[in-house]
Amino acid sequence: MDQIYNFSAGPAVLPKEVLQQARDEMLDWHGSGMSVMEMSHRGKEFMSIAEKTESDFRELVGIPENYKVLFLQGGASSQFSMVPMNLLRGKTKANYINTGQWSTKAIKEASRYCTINVAASSEKTNFTCVPTQDKWHLDPEAAYIHYTSNETIGGVEFHWIPDIDSRNGIPLVADMSSDILSRPLDITRFGLVYAGAQKNLGPAGLTLVVVREDLLGQPLTGTPTLYDYQIHAQNDSMYNTPPTYAMYITGLVFAWLKNKGGLAMMEKINITKANLLYDLLNNNDFYHCPVAKADRSRMNVPFTLKNPALNEEFLKQADNNGLIQLKGHRSVGGMRASIYNAMPIEGVTKLVAFMNEFANQHA
Ligand code: PLP
Repeated sequence: MDQIYNFSAGPAVLPKEVLQQARDEMLDWHGSGMSVMEMSHRGKEFMSIAEKTESDFRELVGIPENYKVLFLQGGASSQFSMVPMNLLRGKTKANYINTGQWSTKAIKEASRYCTINVAASSEKTNFTCVPTQDKWHLDPEAAYIHYTSNETIGGVEFHWIPDIDSRNGIPLVADMSSDILSRPLDITRFGLVYAGAQKNLGPAGLTLVVVREDLLGQPLTGTPTLYDYQIHAQNDSMYNTPPTYAMYITGLVFAWLKNKGGLAMMEKINITKANLLYDLLNNNDFYHCPVAKADRSRMNVPFTLKNPALNEEFLKQADNNGLIQLKGHRSVGGMRASIYNAMPIEGVTKLVAFMNEFANQHA
């Protein structure tokens, strides 16, 4: 059978080498007589997996000691409430930047706990761009500033880190669910970063949080124990049973990334892949990408066919060519090609060739 390329937005494709290693170790991990799924999270075997997973992540990103790395459950959506519950620290307001559907959800959830100042929004342009920082109206009394570095549905990405004095001013918080580890990350610019694993990291079920230590320890009254970052930090993410198998696979992905040359190399590859697709979209009247050129995501490439009557045929033929899960999000329609770290260049090349051919056939 021909190679199949999976463009799902998440849960998404994982590196083949990682899946092969997981398959080989599935029944008996390193001669332990156990599958990783069967290990006690407090046993020496799993502890060694957890330690390596964290240390590889720290090494990949370059995370200083004053940041805690937490391996949680609940998905990125749980962070929409955990962030305000932990970071308000006696304040009653928070700044949010609204660049699309995920920011909107984060805002809605946080507004249950505090007053939200939407400091900037691209809603007027139908969320097709990132508002430049000179247009932000930050409330200096707010406890933190939250933004979504990559809008997975809209395909809008920040290619810059907001210029905020996170240490002496208001901590910067980012939902990096769909672009974490796609490029180098200067974590010292942030108070907190979070990501659901199921796009660039590993299987669904794991949520990664990196948080500066001094922000911990002042949760809102009534915060459930499991929603208190400090509890997880004090217990090395083992206060309760962590998502062990998802952590193990994510650890294999970290090792794979190190092997590939790290985040700078990944960024180069991701730029190459994204350019292949956007060049086609720019030079072909048959397709259209609604996102402002400067803010186009390297991870999620939404596009439409000028003639929507051809949508079904496009998806059918793509499928027949081994190019799967290209249908756009149900709320926006059209197509979306998600090209996370694990998507090889060959997959994008094949997609571009198919799209050119389809356009020629139906022009
Ligand atoms: N934030 C972003 C940017 C996402 O893409 C998603 C999911 O696709 C979420 C948050 C929600 O993640 P979860 O389903 O893990 O709660």
